[in-house]
Amino acid sequence: MKGAPDSSGSGGAASRRIVVRGLPVAPGLAVGFAVFHDEPDVDVPVFALRPDDVEGEQARLAEAVKEARTQLHEVEERLEIQVGAQDARIFSVQGLLLEDPAFGDAIRERIASELINAEVAVRDAVASWGERLAGIAAGSERDPVADLRDVGRRLQRILAGHPRDQVDLTEVGGDQRAILVTRELLPSDTVTLDRSRLAGIITASGGVASHAAILARGLGIPAVTDVDVSSLPARGGCWIVDGGAGEVILDPTPDDVQRAIEKGETFQRVRDELMRDTRGYARTADKVAVELCLNVETFDDLPAELLEDLRGIGLFRTEFLFMERTYFPSEQEQYEHYVGALQRVGDREITFRTIDVGGDKPLSYLSVPHEPNPVLGWRGVRLSLQWPDMFYAQMRALLRASAHGTMRIMLPMITNVEEFERCREIMEEIQDDLRENGVPFNESVQLGAMVEVPAAALAARSLAERADFFSIGTNDLSQYALAVDRNNARVAALYQPFHPGVLQLIRMVIDAGRAADKPVSVCGEVAGDPRAVLLLLGLGLRAFSTSPFHLPAVRRLIARVTLEQAQDAAREVLELDRGAAIAAALHRLVLVYAPELEPFLAPVSDASAT
Ligand code: PEP
Ligand code: MG
Repeated sequence: MKGAPDSSGSGGAASRRIVVRGLPVAPGLAVGFAVFHDEPDVDVPVFALRPDDVEGEQARLAEAVKEARTQLHEVEERLEIQVGAQDARIFSVQGLLLEDPAFGDAIRERIASELINAEVAVRDAVASWGERLAGIAAGSERDPVADLRDVGRRLQRILAGHPRDQVDLTEVGGDQRAILVTRELLPSDTVTLDRSRLAGIITASGGVASHAAILARGLGIPAVTDVDVSSLPARGGCWIVDGGAGEVILDPTPDDVQRAIEKGETFQRVRDELMRDTRGYARTADKVAVELCLNVETFDDLPAELLEDLRGIGLFRTEFLFMERTYFPSEQEQYEHYVGALQRVGDREITFRTIDVGGDKPLSYLSVPHEPNPVLGWRGVRLSLQWPDMFYAQMRALLRASAHGTMRIMLPMITNVEEFERCREIMEEIQDDLRENGVPFNESVQLGAMVEVPAAALAARSLAERADFFSIGTNDLSQYALAVDRNNARVAALYQPFHPGVLQLIRMVIDAGRAADKPVSVCGEVAGDPRAVLLLLGLGLRAFSTSPFHLPAVRRLIARVTLEQAQDAAREVLELDRGAAIAAALHRLVLVYAPELEPFLAPVSDASAT
C-alpha cells in the first residue's frame, strides 16, 4: 500500500498539511470535508435450532433472499439512470449470485445439517465461498469477492431487520461537500451515497478496475485508492482529492485549495469539451483517418450516438456471457444474444472474440483441474480446442448470427499457426454444414487472431499468411513478455507496457500486418492512453479499440497531431532503453500537442530521465 501520510512543509511550521499518495482511479479534483465511514460488521446472532425449526428457518432465509433480490433490482434501476446500464449491471451480477442454486443450497444445507440459524449459515457460506473465489479471482477485472460480501451483508441486514445501510454524509453540515474516507467501498455503498454532497472518495482497497472505481468514474467522482486510511489522522477538516494524480492533501494551505479549485474547473471544462467533441470521424491534424472502436463486455449500455462515429465494437469479450450464467448457454441462446448485439449496433461492425476463460477468468461451472500456473495453462483458444462441443456451439451461433449484421470473429491467445489453422478448419466445417442445411450466414466473415503471446508476435509473419486480421492484446502481451502477472499488485511497478521489448513485439506485429496487407488494431488498455496512441500512430497503427471512458481523450490526441509528428515521436522514444523514460518522453510530447489532456494522464515517474 502506497498511501502512508507524508508531512510536507510548504505551509510553514504551524501547518498540519499532509500529502498522501495512492493510486489514481477516477480523475478530477475534489475539495471537501473528510467523513470517515467504517461499515460496522452486522452483529450475527447465534442460536441453535431444533430439528422441527429447520423448515421455518429455511423459509425465513427464502424470504430474506426474495427481499434482497427486490432491493438489488431497485438499486440497479436507480443506478441505470445515474451511470447507465452497463455499470449498473454489477447489481445484476449480485442478483445472479443470490440465484445461484449452489450458493442457496450451501446455506440451506448448513441450516439443516448443523441446526444453526440462517444468519450464521449465511456468514459461514460467504466466508467459505469468499476463500475459494479469492484464490481464483485475485486482482481480476471484476471482484466477485466484493460482490459476495456485499450480498452477504445485505442478507444479514434483512435477516436482522436492520434498515438499509447508508453512508451518512450529512455530518459535513450546511451546503459543504464531503470526501468519503473508507476502507472499502462496496458497490451498494456507492449507489446509496448522496451524490449532491459527495465530492471525492478515498479508499484503502480496490484497484483501478474494481467495481467502486468503475462506478466512481461513471459518476464523475474523483477517487484515489490504495491509501492506508487507518494511518490517516481521524480528524475532519478540509481535504483535497486529486483523482488524476492519485494524491490526497489533508489540511491544505489556502494556495493548495485555490490551485485545486482552478485545476478542477479546468478538468471539468476540458471534459465537457471533449465529450462534445466525440462527433466526427477521428482524423489526425493532417487529416489521416484513424479507426476508433469500443471494447465491451456486454451490449447493454452502448449509446447509439457514441457508435455513430466509430467503426464499431473492436473487442466484444463474449466470455462475460458465459461467466454471468451458472450453466453453458446453448447455441440458440448464444445466437440470440449475438444477433441482439448486431441489431443494437445497426450498420456498425462487431468483432466478437471467442470465449477467453481460464487463467484469471474462471467459469464456475467448468471444472478445470488444479493448475500450478493457470495463466500459462488451459485458457483462451487452448481451452476451446480441447473442448470442441463448446467451441462448435459458439462458432455455429456466431456464424448463424453473421447473417444479421457486420461482424468478424477473433481468436484469443493464439500461440502457434497450428491452433489458428485448426480453428479455421472448424469454422469451414460448420460453414459446410450450414450451407448443406440451407442455414443463412455471411460467407465472407473474417477470422482474425489476437496477438497476445510473445511467440505469436515474433512469428507474426507466418500468422499473417493465415489470419484475416490481427488485434494486439497488449494487456496479456505485456504480461507474458515481461513475466509479470498483470493482476499482482506486488509486481505492478514491473508491469511496463512501454518497456522497449514490448514495443518491439508490437512493432513486429504492425509490420507483419502491413507486409501481408492485413488490418492490425490494438485492443489492450494502452489503446486508451493518449501517450501510447501517439507512439502507435507513429509506428503505423491506424485502428484503436478502447473503453468508452477513454475515447474522448484518445480522439482529441489524434486530432492534435500530424502523422509526421507521431512518427518523430516514435523515432525519438524508440532510441530510449528504459520503459519509464519512454513513458515520460511520450507524456511530455502529449502535453506539447494537447496540453488540455493533462488531467487525463496518470502521472509517470522517470528517475532515469534528465
Ligand atoms: C489483452 O490481453 O490485451 C486483451 C485485450 O484481452 P483481455 O484484457 O480480455 O485479456
Ligand atoms: Mg488478453
